[in-house]
Amino acid sequence: MSIKDNIISIKDEISDEVKLVAVSKTRSIDEIKEAYNSNQKVFGENKVQEIVEKYQLLPDDIEWHMIGHLQKNKVKYISNFISLIHSLDRISLATEIDKCAKKSNRNINCLIQLKISSEETKFGLDINAFEDFYANIQKFDNINIVGLMGMASFTKDHQKINDEFSIIKELFDRVRLRNSNLKILSIGMSDDYRIAINKGSNMIRVGSKIFGKRNY
Ligand SMILES: *Cc1c(COP(=O)(O)O)cnc(C)c1O
Repeated sequence: MSIKDNIISIKDEISDEVKLVAVSKTRSIDEIKEAYNSNQKVFGENKVQEIVEKYQLLPDDIEWHMIGHLQKNKVKYISNFISLIHSLDRISLATEIDKCAKKSNRNINCLIQLKISSEETKFGLDINAFEDFYANIQKFDNINIVGLMGMASFTKDHQKINDEFSIIKELFDRVRLRNSNLKILSIGMSDDYRIAINKGSNMIRVGSKIFGKRNY
């Protein structure tokens, strides 16, 4: 199947309430153009240098999402164009995003990335630290917290993935009762987006199911 066929089949499968982020990390400009010409306008990348290069070469109406771990010293390269940062997980990073956003005269939309997986290597804020973090983050005038993001463990055990998504979904529902700005629940990737959507995801980040297997 072509990139276009893959996008059409995923969009056919999901409802209009679920936003598809095409994860284009490691993909060429031509591959991204093929997706773009199939009416896909939202792309996610995990490396600053790569997202900046692609932003410069591709059409202006693309919405660029930063989905990977973000270093403070690199925020300044994306703060003038980024549509959504999925990986806000520490106050020091928020301080820098807020500062760069002010300089660009913008408000930057961010998701708080939560650690829901039991795997050691995953980034994200500890669930137990959420309430303090969330209270603290309100002081930043140029950051809008618009939702939560999480990554489940890399496993074929659907029950385990489901349980991990439940943790973030419960928190999302609870916080949304007192703050209606929290609208986005970014969970689900190529191998688990169906489980995520069943849990209430409204933003999925899909790479290999659109573009084919990555080499790493
Ligand atoms: C690479 C990546 C994805 C997409 O992964 P696929 O399995 O290729 O769909 C989603 N989210 C994040 C944070 C990623 O780094």
